[in-house]
Amino acid sequence: QFFQRHAMPGSSALLERVTVRGDRKPYLQIDRVEGLVAAAQVAALELHPWNCAPHKPEVPGRLVFDLDPAPDLGFNTVVKAALELRERLEALGLRAFCKSTGGKGLHVVTPLASDPEPLDWPTAKTFAQALCVQMAADSPERFLTTMAKKDRGGRIFLDYLRNDRMATAVAPLSPRAREGATVSMPLLWPQVKSGLDPGRFTVRSAPALLARHKPWQDYAKSARSLRAAIRRLTGPTKPAARTRRQRR
Ligand code: ATP
Ligand code: MN
Repeated sequence: QFFQRHAMPGSSALLERVTVRGDRKPYLQIDRVEGLVAAAQVAALELHPWNCAPHKPEVPGRLVFDLDPAPDLGFNTVVKAALELRERLEALGLRAFCKSTGGKGLHVVTPLASDPEPLDWPTAKTFAQALCVQMAADSPERFLTTMAKKDRGGRIFLDYLRNDRMATAVAPLSPRAREGATVSMPLLWPQVKSGLDPGRFTVRSAPALLARHKPWQDYAKSARSLRAAIRRLTGPTKPAARTRRQRR
């Protein structure tokens, strides 16, 4: 197994090539269904896109919160964490979507609205971190926000690190090269409840499940302002505070 980010001689013409800051070699980009088929033709099994806004590598297009349970934890614990994270995001005016990873955890994803003065990746990452740190501070026996595997004991790692310029997360509906040929399945929130078994979502079962309900149908129209969410999380912004001080 290997992964490939750059175009190379012989890459299909159905795949776009895109140059990004800091790298002369063009990256691969998929803009159409035929491109997905071309990727499948060369046995590309997993797709791990960036989380930038379309055609804007420097602009965060969504946040991905990766819930990683300690090995001894039951999946219902992960479900509860996803529901709590959703509540916290919605309290800040953001919309949340949940998907299985095809592995051991869940991803909670929030689409971001485009902004006339786009925020950058460090800002998005700091926001994601602050939210996760708050959640872990409120339930230190359930969550942690540092990677240290050795003291994860019985807790869920709230991984905010997917929210960076070149960080990736598995795409919704991407198959995984794992036991059982699982897929990263977009879910409806009513499915995210006790008893959820992510192992049920496989390359075999996903097509029929998708024909039955339309998870993430509202994704595009659920994009909300990150700037407004940051304001809600941190209170008044610094420039406003300075104005107040000057007036005094
Ligand atoms: P889990 O629920 O088991 O934690 P996950 O999708 O959250 O699953 P990993 O599969 O461990 O987590 O992925 C960790 C990081 O490595 C992510 O940034 C992911 O995009 C990247 N990654 C994992 N597998 C591949 C792959 N086959 N090709 C490219 N990037 C990958
Ligand atoms: Mn994970």
